[in-house]
Amino acid sequence: MIRIAQPFIGDEEREAVLAVLDSRRLAAGPKTRELEEIFARDVSGTREAVAVANGTAALHIALLAHDIGPGDEAITTPFTFQATANMILATGARPVFVDVREDGNIDPDLIEAAITPRTKAILPVHLYGRLCDVDAINSIAQKHGRALIEDAAQAHGATLGGRAAGSFGTGCFSLYATKNIMTGEGGVLTTNDSALAGRMRRIRSHGESERYSSSELGFNYRLTDIAAAIGVVQLGRLAGFTEARRRNAEYLSAHLRGVITPPPAVERDAHVWHQYAVRVTGRDALIDWLQQRGIESAVHYPRALPDHPLYRDLGYDGADYPVACQLAREVLSLPVHPGVSGSDLDQIVEAVNAWAESRRGEPLAAHE
Ligand SMILES: *Cc1c(COP(=O)(O)O)cnc(C)c1O
Repeated sequence: MIRIAQPFIGDEEREAVLAVLDSRRLAAGPKTRELEEIFARDVSGTREAVAVANGTAALHIALLAHDIGPGDEAITTPFTFQATANMILATGARPVFVDVREDGNIDPDLIEAAITPRTKAILPVHLYGRLCDVDAINSIAQKHGRALIEDAAQAHGATLGGRAAGSFGTGCFSLYATKNIMTGEGGVLTTNDSALAGRMRRIRSHGESERYSSSELGFNYRLTDIAAAIGVVQLGRLAGFTEARRRNAEYLSAHLRGVITPPPAVERDAHVWHQYAVRVTGRDALIDWLQQRGIESAVHYPRALPDHPLYRDLGYDGADYPVACQLAREVLSLPVHPGVSGSDLDQIVEAVNAWAESRRGEPLAAHE
């Protein structure tokens, strides 16, 4: 079976974990600080990086550190993993969804109309590892004096004009097992604002300004040194992983027929291909067809956030976000990770093209 995701674990990861176990320093310690230093230098290019328990915690901390709470609004995308908007709810604020473009990222042209006096932040996602139109969004945030928080959970190392995901605003990364680099569970916050970084470190650990003295509400959102040790090794592999993902994506786009392939990135470096999502009609039949031929695929995501029961109960409705709903019906992620070999790629291409051939004449997708 060609898996849709497959964490790479080599001897160096194994040895790094054993070394931490032998050191008896298991909670946040020297490995966590090492991870933060390397991440800030090599991934986000920011002054600061703050390692946390997971990407969801990173989002929660970022929102709290920007003083977002009850009565506030944060503008975000309806087409993402639910953690993005759920953490806005967790602060007591209200997510305001703005529809996406055909590439899956939030449409900057719709953002200004959604800004109200209550808007505190704009929280775009770099979906599938593709940088959103972050220059345009950043100008809107600056013009209106709103915070920019980037959900970069899928975008480690994506850059535009030499600037990396997580360096335009406050960056929130995930190191979950299936992300481009991973620690099992883990996350990282990035910023150039040292005071903000200090506050995020405090919120990570009970809001403590000194030991056993909380100056504000915080949590235990720390990473372990066991996980950080894996992350330090993975950071050394990131450039190679990303190059493999780009090669795989380019091969698929050059050879797939009968499906709508993802639009190319504005610059090659602006996409790190966390997912390679094609668009099709009759998606369920293709999923089964691929499964029967030993190829795993996945849908990211089968419904827009406003159509989750949680959001329906709060009065949201997916029908207000037609592009997100269209994508939710049509997207299908194919294996693109560094563990996908050349012969795997050929197998994927052959299977998809044979399926397309078998239904020739039917529309590829509703929007072409
Ligand atoms: C993975 C992911 C998260 C959450 O990260 P976790 O580490 O799983 O908590 C948030 N947003 C997006 C877009 C993600 O892909």
